[in-house]
Amino acid sequence: MAELEKKARQALVPSGWDYAPAPESREIVRIEERYGHFVGGEWLEPKESYTTISPASEEPLAEVGQATPAEVRAAIATAREAFENGWSALPGSERAKYLFRIARILQERSREFAVLESLNGGKPIKESRDVDLPLAAAHFFYYAGWADKLEYAFPNRRPRPVGVAGQIIPWNFPLLMLAWKIAPALAAGNTVVLKPAETTPLTALLFCDVVRQAELPPGVVNIVTGDGRAGAAIVEGDVDKIAFTGSTEVGKAIQRELAGTGKRLTLELGGKAANIVFDDCALDQAIEGIVNGIYFNQGHVCCAGSRLFVQESIHEDVVKKLKRRMQTLRVGDPLDKNTDIGAINSRMQLEKIEELVEAGKEEGAEIYQPPCRLPEKGYWFAPTVFTDVAQSYRIAQEEIFGPVLSVLTFRTPAEAVEKANNTPYGLSAGIWTEKGSRILWMAERMRAGVVWANTFNRFDPASPFGGYKESGFGREGGRHGLEPYLEFD
Ligand code: NDP
Repeated sequence: MAELEKKARQALVPSGWDYAPAPESREIVRIEERYGHFVGGEWLEPKESYTTISPASEEPLAEVGQATPAEVRAAIATAREAFENGWSALPGSERAKYLFRIARILQERSREFAVLESLNGGKPIKESRDVDLPLAAAHFFYYAGWADKLEYAFPNRRPRPVGVAGQIIPWNFPLLMLAWKIAPALAAGNTVVLKPAETTPLTALLFCDVVRQAELPPGVVNIVTGDGRAGAAIVEGDVDKIAFTGSTEVGKAIQRELAGTGKRLTLELGGKAANIVFDDCALDQAIEGIVNGIYFNQGHVCCAGSRLFVQESIHEDVVKKLKRRMQTLRVGDPLDKNTDIGAINSRMQLEKIEELVEAGKEEGAEIYQPPCRLPEKGYWFAPTVFTDVAQSYRIAQEEIFGPVLSVLTFRTPAEAVEKANNTPYGLSAGIWTEKGSRILWMAERMRAGVVWANTFNRFDPASPFGGYKESGFGREGGRHGLEPYLEFD
């Protein structure tokens, strides 16, 4: 017996698993050397341009147009013409056909889009492949279903499209945000001029190819690229509605600009979500939810669970388990299928994250980063957790928009509510407990547009998404997402 035990002890037990590289091939995507603006179904040669890069390697990918105010005005005029000359009068059932077509083409070409999204934006391929692309297609399918049922969606209200929608989107979910904006606008009978973020224009430009393939009438979807100046020109232009997703600062500036103009506005801005963990929760499941809540998409998520509130009695256990789990996160090449955390989207964003992390250390919080080797080129930041955080610290107040978590504690549900709501934002929240009654009690008191229970960062086209307070107003997704694109008699 003793001999057997000795042998068993000597047997080789693997102490860890190494992952072999599993890079997705770039071959499937053809990136043009230069892109113009997509106006009236044609490519307009841009007057000015800039280079878009891969944030993982700083390698230049393509030359992209920087739209001038005159180019933006031309795109808006084309959208207006398309609105007045046919699109708005088309029966909903016909508009639905185009949306269904777009959805199907996105599904067919999803690998191509996923690779390009990861190349240009830095997010891990497994996220662009399994989250961004399926959800983008799902949004087109979902709103295709509503296009011929608007009278049923809003009974006794006679819905009409508002006209030309100017849409400005950010860099964290480039194609998905495009889908969130374009699908409901078209379903409701509007035409659009959309501007992707300066750092991530390529999937929006590839989408123009889908628009052509679906034979959408020219001018219904127009895409202009460039930095904030192009966004500002859309806001100033002859549009009937602005839909904006981005920073609270720019959102406020747009709201000031539009005040009194009669143009409609929806804003989806920043967040500083509370992820609240009670001592009766399924702890290992909660740890996965915490990791997904903050490290998904490098933390470049407006609804990221960036403030973790842990019930005091389990604080030590949670922090220990969390640190252990963080050690298994793989940081690196976004195109590697094993990668959990990709590149930071831009140098500017990296500097912002570094600045706030320094502030956290100076204010007295304790920092932990698992050992990981970051690539030499490109923009990278290791997954980070701060403990000993006070409510007043900048890392507990400001949106970091990176893979940085602040851990705070509470004793009672009432204290959790008070601390969670102590923020100028109100986009989302998470609650981890096994008690259904507690979930309902908490959810009712959270000043947040979305409250997840025993999960985090789940999205569905049928579910409205949007904020309270400085996280913005208006809802995207669901039947609610149609309303900002409609007028009623
Ligand atoms: P911005 O708000 O600047 O960018 C969002 C979009 O607005 C981009 O397309 C941008 O163009 C455009 N834009 C910029 N200035 C103007 C303007 N004056 N008028 C009209 N459109 C404009 O966000 P940033 O990219 O600068 O990121 C800064 C911070 O904002 C992040 O650190 C993060 O905290 C937050 N953020 C929040 C997002 C969310 O989903 N709620 C998304 C992105 C950022 P351009 O790309 O050229 O700047």
